[in-house]
Amino acid sequence: MIYLVEHFYSIQGEGKYVGTPSLFFRFGGCNMKCEGFGCTERAPDGVEVLGCDTVYAVNKEHFASTWKQINTLQEFLDIVDSYELPKGVDVVLTGGEPLIYANDTLFVEFLEALVKEGHRITFETNGSLNVDFEKYSVYKECVFALSVKLSNSAESLSKRVRPEIIQNLASNAYDAFFKFSIDAASINKDLEEELHKILSLAPYTKVYCMPVGGEKKEVELNTEPLIEFCKAKGYNFSDRLHIRIWDSNKGV
Ligand code: SF4
Repeated sequence: MIYLVEHFYSIQGEGKYVGTPSLFFRFGGCNMKCEGFGCTERAPDGVEVLGCDTVYAVNKEHFASTWKQINTLQEFLDIVDSYELPKGVDVVLTGGEPLIYANDTLFVEFLEALVKEGHRITFETNGSLNVDFEKYSVYKECVFALSVKLSNSAESLSKRVRPEIIQNLASNAYDAFFKFSIDAASINKDLEEELHKILSLAPYTKVYCMPVGGEKKEVELNTEPLIEFCKAKGYNFSDRLHIRIWDSNKGV
């Protein structure tokens, strides 16, 4: 069963391909909760749910009633066609965690259809779920934005950092880069050491650090300290353009 939370045509707001026109598919469900990010959202059943800035795409128990089930390839293709897009425009698969569907036949068929039409696919993933590049060669054509979770997510180390998976994704994908969400309060020696350990797993992979925040105000507060951190460590700073412009994660 594939759950789709939303789809929209916008520009990529984060990471290596920032500014690129992209069709986004946000899938429902995730293998983590990341309650450490401290974002809350009221679900349709009235419950205030704690999690990350896309908690509405993570928490199945309280938000699944707002998700749409996709059962056929034609449903996916109809969505793409409905936008009348420029040829070969980028497609971004995000969530939640899109790789929870990595072995789903329908999901793989959708990827193959996109690649056949010349679309570049980028997965926005937490980098903790594996992909079988030999069985599903279409993944070798894809880009992986590895948003490996740090201790500020409050997830356990063994769950959020899976060395063999990070190495597999970084070395077999068409392109891969690290993308970290960092808040000003977390910038310290522990963070430096944690990043160093993760980055040493795939040393030639580019690094982008972006300010934590589901709202413009929060992003702004975290921006300048993070820029100073990036300057000191030689990492790339990534803005979160969509939040700075639209003050929202949804539908933009
Ligand atoms: S892994 Fe990503 S989508 Fe899943 S809960 Fe954490 S921040 Fe949210």
